[in-house]
Amino acid sequence: MSASGAHGRTAETSHVAGAVAAEEDLRALFGRSSAVFATVSGPGHVVERANPAFHAAFGVGRTGLALADVLPDVRDRGFLDLLDEVRRTGEARTDRDVRVELGSGPQAREAFFDLTCEPRRDAAGDVLGVRVIGVETTSVKHSQRLMAEHRVLLEQIARQAPLAEVLDGMARCIEELVPRELFVSVLLADPDGLHLRHGAAPSLPAFYNEAIDGIATGEGVGSCGTAAHRREPVIVTDIATDPFWDDFRDLAVKAGLGACWSTPILARDGGLLGTFAMYHRVPRVPQEIDLAIIRVFAGTAALAIERHHNELARQAAEARAEAAREALAETARAERELRAEAERRADAAAELAAQMRAAAAAHAQTPRPERCQLGGRTGCAAPAELKVADSWGDAAWGCSRHVEEVLIHVPSVFIAGEELGGLSAYLNR
Ligand SMILES: [Zn+2]
Repeated sequence: MSASGAHGRTAETSHVAGAVAAEEDLRALFGRSSAVFATVSGPGHVVERANPAFHAAFGVGRTGLALADVLPDVRDRGFLDLLDEVRRTGEARTDRDVRVELGSGPQAREAFFDLTCEPRRDAAGDVLGVRVIGVETTSVKHSQRLMAEHRVLLEQIARQAPLAEVLDGMARCIEELVPRELFVSVLLADPDGLHLRHGAAPSLPAFYNEAIDGIATGEGVGSCGTAAHRREPVIVTDIATDPFWDDFRDLAVKAGLGACWSTPILARDGGLLGTFAMYHRVPRVPQEIDLAIIRVFAGTAALAIERHHNELARQAAEARAEAAREALAETARAERELRAEAERRADAAAELAAQMRAAAAAHAQTPRPERCQLGGRTGCAAPAELKVADSWGDAAWGCSRHVEEVLIHVPSVFIAGEELGGLSAYLNR
């Protein structure tokens, strides 16, 4: 091992140690954001050293590969342009929020980095390559945007905007927030939890929403029916091959849908409120940001739906209370009327009793005439044999023929035996 070689390695090692320390600082500074570090050399930016975070983020895998070949998306050359420029000018540069397309196919994702690139020089001062120190800011950027949108939704929910408006706004904001084309769907569970109704899906075709409206929850009923049934997320990354979609595949193809990730929307007591789904045109695997969006917005949807249910329950309770108040007032009215009626009856009974007392007294005082009093205008010469009376106080003596006639024709009449002295004798005993 030559002296110069040993010297070079020592210098490189100290750079790495310094970078690791910087990485620690940056990690502390940015919390959970991971710092990436790499040294590259030559015009193709061949990776000589890199920390695991760099390999993981850029999908390089091993040293000795040229970044110019590895980074897939030539349209987003931000990072490579930066490396080229530092190499050309020999001056360090820091760029914020450099957009990098990472991975490919279903695993592809957009990422943002704050990147500092410094030239590496040889003893003569010529630029050998570039040292890269970066911090991924993707989650920070996304979470900032997410939180801003989330706040707007919470304000809407707080001022009791109609549920359909809140869910529709939520779906649209997510579709706008995420850089890739996706469609958001919210289905609402029936109270029995056995069927799902259309809630919001502003960007899915109307024929699709109509076909899905009212589907049963159950194992294998697409992503949403299954997620609702299992009470856990169901990630279908490829509708074309997933058995859960056997019954809905033709419909999905017609709507141009390739993937559907659905998560149940649950109430605080664990009850099923609905499902929150993200659809993609092509097969896709959810990334960290997707999972974060699903977590945040399924929770927000739960809040909106629960609040809506509470509002409906409050309105129903108010209507019930109003009905109860009316029934109570009606009962009080009926009670007053019954009391008045009872008093009227008591008065009438008292009056009747007084009349009867008077009648009894009158009977007792009527002296027995010699002749029948029931002969009418022509009179009757027959002797008075029997006394008749009615409850209204009238009394008369008559012959047996006329008494019989009166008894037949006047319903309230009775024969008043003189010796009984009427009711007054009883009342005054
Ligand atoms: Zn007579």
